[in-house]
Amino acid sequence: MYKLKCISCETYYDPDEILYTCPKCGDRLGTLEIVYDYDNIVIKKSELDPYDSIFQFKKILPISNSAYQTYLHVGGTPLYSFKGLLGIKEVFVKYDGTNPTGSYKDRATAIAISKAYEFGFKNIYCASTGNAASSLAGLTAPTDLETFIFVPASAPIAKITQLYVYGANVIQIDGSYDEAFDISMKIGQKKRWYSRNSAINPYLLEGKKTGALEVAVQTDFEVPDTIFVGVGDGTVISSLYKGFYDFMQIGLIDKIPKIIGVQAQGADAIARVFEKGEPFTPEDIEAKTIADSISVGKPRDVIKACKYVQKSGGTFLRVSDEEILNAIVELAEETGVFGEPAGASAYAGLKKALSLGLISRDERVCVFVTGNGLKDVRSIESLVRLEKIPPKIETVLQYIDTLKQ
Ligand SMILES: *Cc1c(COP(=O)(O)O)cnc(C)c1O
Ligand SMILES: [Zn+2]
Repeated sequence: MYKLKCISCETYYDPDEILYTCPKCGDRLGTLEIVYDYDNIVIKKSELDPYDSIFQFKKILPISNSAYQTYLHVGGTPLYSFKGLLGIKEVFVKYDGTNPTGSYKDRATAIAISKAYEFGFKNIYCASTGNAASSLAGLTAPTDLETFIFVPASAPIAKITQLYVYGANVIQIDGSYDEAFDISMKIGQKKRWYSRNSAINPYLLEGKKTGALEVAVQTDFEVPDTIFVGVGDGTVISSLYKGFYDFMQIGLIDKIPKIIGVQAQGADAIARVFEKGEPFTPEDIEAKTIADSISVGKPRDVIKACKYVQKSGGTFLRVSDEEILNAIVELAEETGVFGEPAGASAYAGLKKALSLGLISRDERVCVFVTGNGLKDVRSIESLVRLEKIPPKIETVLQYIDTLKQ
């Protein structure tokens, strides 16, 4: 049905031969691609529904017909169209804040859980800046899998709260996300738990690609010219390329959009590697940004992200924390979509691309808002201006006159 192929040395592996990454190239360079037998996959446009869950795509997911499917409805998230926003012909907003735990990560977690059952694991774990963790905790809650979560000290309180209400075992590491990740890998191997860690587990990206598949279905297979997405580890952006690529291979669409990755200025590890050019060589930094979900200094999917973005004709951009904060508010005011910082960074990237002349206004573009704004209200506290008015009609009326109309 499918094979695994190393992104660097291009060795093929059978699915039962290997669990995570290419043993010859190691964790970083040896991330694996899932390659399908495209000639033998037939999907008709008419069998796809804009709002069905991700499991409607199982013919091009690495799971069997009888695979475990999450109890909660993952995917089928809205694609909103705004004509003329920022003077652009059409701006689509793909909003994944409506997923069960409020972020894009649910797409990957759903597949990780299917695979954990298929391989016969009883325990599953991940390290996460927040969303992968809350996603794993939420989607495993109605299952009999035991869940272990490693989070860094900096995770926002709403995301940590999700872990507790869903009943996961939480291990908060007093260190960075990158440190939490490395520790979790060592413990996971020792304990023989299944890994839901980004990039290490090749199946996660296959779940994430369903966002691209949905955009294709929701645009009636006339995909946008350019897409924008926030980038941390680089798995989501890689998955978007892979989704469009798979649909093109089976003849459902005729192009892959130009893919623009948006990084926070203080966490631009992938942009740096991309700019240095081939052969892409990981170069780690100390990450610092308010956008916790993309605050990654040691990106795990850097090779795929750079290769795929290059193939798409796209590039990487940097936006400052201030631009991200302003983008949260502007996006919410213009569209009604309230994204968390990493989600709104894509919109900040769209604005930057316009100002740099990277895209033209007669394009159709899509912004992936990957997480719900309610997950991290602290980050925008500085922008909230609330005055207390005495409970007197006259004073309140006077105050109303001072408000913007
Ligand atoms: C994880 C995440 C991203 C970035 O995905 P990567 O695969 O790490 O690049 C973007 N936005 C949100 C909300 C996320 O949770
Ligand atoms: Zn290899």
